[in-house]
Amino acid sequence: MLNIALFGPPGAGKGTQSQFLIDEYNLFYISTGDLLRTEIKNQSKLGKEAQSIIASGGLVSDEIIVQIIEKTITDNPDANGFLFDGFPRTYIQAYILEGLMIKLNTSLNCLISLEVDEEESVKRLLKRGKSSGRTDDNETVIRNRLSEYKEKTLPVLGFYKEKGIYSGVDSSKPIPTVRKNIQKIIVEELSKRLLNIVLFGYPGSGRGSQGKAVAKKYGLEYVATGPMLGEEIEKNTEIGKQIKSIYESGKLVPDEIVVQLIEQKLENSKNVKGFIFKGFPRTLVQSYILDGLLKKHDTALAKIIEIEVPTLELIRRLDERSKTDNCMPYDTSTAKIVKRLQEHETKTVPVIEKYNELHGVVKVDGIASFEEVFEKISFEIENGFKNLR
Ligand code: AMP
Repeated sequence: MLNIALFGPPGAGKGTQSQFLIDEYNLFYISTGDLLRTEIKNQSKLGKEAQSIIASGGLVSDEIIVQIIEKTITDNPDANGFLFDGFPRTYIQAYILEGLMIKLNTSLNCLISLEVDEEESVKRLLKRGKSSGRTDDNETVIRNRLSEYKEKTLPVLGFYKEKGIYSGVDSSKPIPTVRKNIQKIIVEELSKRLLNIVLFGYPGSGRGSQGKAVAKKYGLEYVATGPMLGEEIEKNTEIGKQIKSIYESGKLVPDEIVVQLIEQKLENSKNVKGFIFKGFPRTLVQSYILDGLLKKHDTALAKIIEIEVPTLELIRRLDERSKTDNCMPYDTSTAKIVKRLQEHETKTVPVIEKYNELHGVVKVDGIASFEEVFEKISFEIENGFKNLR
C-alpha cells in the first residue's frame, strides 16, 4: 500500500495536487472536509453538529472526525493506498491515524507538507471563493481557519518529523512544479521498497536455475538456504562448524541456524531491489519465520510463484541430472529422489496452500524451454514491481 497525507494550510493546493496523485498512483482519496460537507448536505446528525463549526472556520471535534474517517477506511481495505487531504489536523488525529493504519496492517509512508505563506493562502482562497460556493471561503473565516492551522495543525508536523516521514514542498511555485516535486518524493519512497519473491516448485522443476537468472536480471538477491549452508561449512565459520557436526550426525539443520543465515543475508545485502527465496520456506514453521524476518526489516512478500511440472517429468529430469556433473548427493538413487519429492509434498505443499489463501500463488507451467519459463516468470516479476506501490 502507498499511504500519503497531504498537509498544509487552507489554500496550499492540497485539493489540486490530490487530483494528480489519485490518478497517477490509483489511491483512494479521503478529504475530511469533503466528507463533512457531504454529511452537512445530507443533514445527518454529524453534519448538523459540524455545520456551525465549519461556518466559523474552527476545527470539528476529533470525535466526529474519527467516526467519519474510520468508516471510510475500514470500508475500503483493498485500496491500493490512501491519500489523506486535510487529515490529520490535530495531534490527537495523528494518533488516530496511526491506530487506523495498524488496523489495516499498514502505515503512513509519507507526509508531504505544502508550504505557502499566509497572504498567498488568503489571496488564493478569496479567488476560489468566487466560484467554490463554499461559505467558509470569505476573509473573516479564512483568517480564522489560518489561525486554527497555526495553533492546532502546524504542531502536528513535529510528530512526523520525529518519525522521519515528513517532506516539505514549496507550494508558492506554479502547479506543475509543485506536482513534479511531490512526485520526486513519492518516487524516492517507492524506490526504497523491496520486491520479495518466493519461488516454489518440486525438486527438478527448475527453481534454482530460474531463480538465479531472475535475480541477475532484476537486481534481486538470490537466497537459497541449501548452498548458504554449504558456504558456511566451506568457510569454516562458527555456524559452519555447527552445521558440519549436525550433518555428520545425520540430523536436519535446525531452524535457529537457518534463521541466522537469512537474517545475515537481509542485513548485509545493500542496494538490492529485493530478495528471491528458493528452498525456503520449506515448512509451515519456516513460513512464519520468513514473515517475521521480513516484517522485522520493514518489508513483506510481494510475489509468490510456483513452477509446475508433472511428477513423471520431475523423476525423468532428476534421474538425468544424476548422470551428469551436476549430480547432487541426493540425486544418486531412485529412493532418494522419491524421498525428496515426498518431503516436498508433505511439508512444502501446505505452505504453498497457505500462501495461496493469503496472497495468491502465481502458477507457471514448467513444461517448456528454459527461455520460455524464464519469460513467464519475468512477466510476473515486472508486474510485481508495478504493484509494489
Ligand atoms: P477543508 O475542506 O479541508 O478546507 O476543510 C473545511 C473545514 O472542515 C475546516 O475548516 C474544518 O472546520 C473542517 N475539517 C476538515 N477536516 C478536519 C479535520 N481533520 N479535523 C477537524 N476539522 C476538520
